[in-house]
Amino acid sequence: MPEPLSERQVDALSADADRFIAELDEEAYLHYAGLKETYDLAPIYERYAELTKLETALALGASLDGGRRTRELWRFSCEGYLGSIVREEAERVAELEATLQATLDGEEVPYRMLRPRIANEDDRATRERLERARNELTEEHLNELHLRAADRMHREATRLGAPSYTELYRGFGFQLDALADQCRRFLDSTERLWEETGDRFFRTRIGLGLGEVERWDVARIWRGAAWDAAFPKERMVPALEATLADLGVDLRAQENVHLDLEERPTKDPRAFCAPIEIPERVILVIKPQGGPDDWRALFHEAGHTEHFAHTSPSLSVEERRLGDNAVTEGWAILLEHLTIDPVWLERRLDFPRPYEFAAEGAAQLLWLVRRYCAKLLYEVEFHAAPDVTAMRSRYVELLGGALKVAPSDTDYLADIDDGFYASKYLRAWAFETQLRSYLRERFGNAWFTRREAGSLLRELWAEGQRYTADELLREVSGEAIELDAVTDRIREALAAA
Ligand SMILES: [Zn+2]
Repeated sequence: MPEPLSERQVDALSADADRFIAELDEEAYLHYAGLKETYDLAPIYERYAELTKLETALALGASLDGGRRTRELWRFSCEGYLGSIVREEAERVAELEATLQATLDGEEVPYRMLRPRIANEDDRATRERLERARNELTEEHLNELHLRAADRMHREATRLGAPSYTELYRGFGFQLDALADQCRRFLDSTERLWEETGDRFFRTRIGLGLGEVERWDVARIWRGAAWDAAFPKERMVPALEATLADLGVDLRAQENVHLDLEERPTKDPRAFCAPIEIPERVILVIKPQGGPDDWRALFHEAGHTEHFAHTSPSLSVEERRLGDNAVTEGWAILLEHLTIDPVWLERRLDFPRPYEFAAEGAAQLLWLVRRYCAKLLYEVEFHAAPDVTAMRSRYVELLGGALKVAPSDTDYLADIDDGFYASKYLRAWAFETQLRSYLRERFGNAWFTRREAGSLLRELWAEGQRYTADELLREVSGEAIELDAVTDRIREALAAA
């Protein structure tokens, strides 16, 4: 049993964590914004090796005092340790994903381009061949590495003092069982709704019913190319600026927010937020492409950006950088969902058929939430399984059962988020839905045009991640987080179309 740490030692580790995360975020920004070709994590990990050592994680575990701060730092150190244990496999996977290619009619398609190609491919037979090529590459080259990483993480979780990886997270305060119960209830209560809504949605987008759609059709359906004209790329940033202005936030005047709009050849096309210093230096990186998905991504990342940029500098490192990520995901989703809000679409864009688009957005949300419910149930079992290879058929059973579209069993290892991140999204969807209901009740359906709503948001953003999503919601509306709230919101959007 390691000795508990002194307060001064905990403070030093906390300060190290602050710098460590800042350097990781800076490196990610430089690489993905196309400013730096290589992505050099190893030297950063080496500089802060102390933080992610087994002894440090165990010593922090021995120093738990019932307070949230030490618990968050302990979790951070455990996750860093587990990450360092599988870094070799993770790097090899990233390298293979970047270099593997499928050959299709004599043409080489890079592994990472297969999904985007499927999303933009009209011919169904070609989509099927692209998807099958992807599944084969995953099975043949990546699964061995994924398997080794999962086995190592599971073994090392026991060295961190928990009987299993799942138990380790219960120890971090993750309410996995209560959430799993909510997921089971949600899957049950929306089963019929999904069968009807999914069928209608798939027919609208692609002319195939729920029983006919296969996994290679899904990315094409999601792409929603028919709506591209309503979401032009030139209007993305102006629409964001105008929306924030209504809430009392002048994006261009925010000194701690940097907008990176520059075109660079190797810039990642997907918007992202790099909160390098919270709140002093938050970067919103965008390479506008246009189309409904790109708009969603921009507004999502802008939600993270405003949350971090408004976080009070007087909070501790743990309250600014760690804590419950369902909070920042909730703020991100609140802005993201404006792009499927018919009232916003009407006011902010001269949008054709906003209620129809909103209903399609609701169908998509229902798929996503059902998918994550199934994922969480799967991951809870997976991370406690004595032999994870036995989970292959369970993956198809749980995901296919929820979605009525069978996934490929080759994804049973790769389709897992580290650290039960699925639980953060699930709670964020509920948090956002309930908060939005509160905002609509208090400020009207056009709440996002009201300065007072903006003042309330800024006040809540200032709390950083000091409180959990549950605590924050209870403070605002007196409610507990409830996944069922999402069902009501989906039904409302579907009924209005
Ligand atoms: Zn996010």
